Amino acid sequence: MTADLILRTENLTRRFAGFTALNDVSVGFERGKLTAIIGPNGAGKSTFFNLLSGTFPPSEGRVVFEQRDLSGLKQHEFAHVGVSKSFQITNIFPAFSVLENVRIALQARVGRLNFWSRRAALALDDRARELLALVGLGAHTRRTARELAHGQQRALEIAIALAADPKLLLMDEPTAGMSPEETRSMMDLIVQLAAERTVVLVEHKMKMVMGISDRIVVLHHGELLATGKPDDIRANDEVKRVYLGQ
Ligand code: ADP
Ligand code: MG
Repeated sequence: MTADLILRTENLTRRFAGFTALNDVSVGFERGKLTAIIGPNGAGKSTFFNLLSGTFPPSEGRVVFEQRDLSGLKQHEFAHVGVSKSFQITNIFPAFSVLENVRIALQARVGRLNFWSRRAALALDDRARELLALVGLGAHTRRTARELAHGQQRALEIAIALAADPKLLLMDEPTAGMSPEETRSMMDLIVQLAAERTVVLVEHKMKMVMGISDRIVVLHHGELLATGKPDDIRANDEVKRVYLGQ
């Protein structure tokens, strides 16, 4: 039986002024799994991520989400079909409270109509608190977003991404710039999120994702080097060579 793929790429290629950052990558992402895209700096991970999330279009090839070709869709339309991302750009309003930040994201989804009903507003409030509790910010709802520590801001970005109730959550280097302690709690959170939905995360620290991922996709010089379960990737000679000295 073939795997249930929520997302796949076909011959995905992206060039920047003649430089090929991603070359002919065809890979599938299984529904309900946690997949990590890894590779050394400059491997093309962020480029791949931006193509998967619709930040910019491919030069060639396509992204197919649940059998639907996403070519030509605008970035916000990716969210409508069920693909949400975190960390690629900051969507936090720094002067607003933590709760307001999530409420705004929820409102964007339900639309203006419901916003004016008091009951709907309270339901949004409850949902915002629920999401904030999930990401570990339940005790910080009234604080201003800019007062949060770095790791907490990233957790807030996840809550904002979750407001769209995505089928697929994309994260680019979720632990970048984090302390070891923040990193551990972010990893715990990612595992928890992955129990409920499909998660694809981009990371250059191989060790970090080996223990939590179901599948690994390795990029190198813009090409797909290997894909498989963590154990297979660990044993892969080409992957070892690429990571030597890291
Ligand atoms: P990674 O995230 O794996 O570190 P990137 O996808 O950011 O790698 O970059 C892959 C390659 O593409 C790098 O050599 C980078 O310099 C180049 N690149 C990425 N974005 C651009 C851009 N907007 N313009 C020109 N070159 C780019
Ligand atoms: Mg990157």
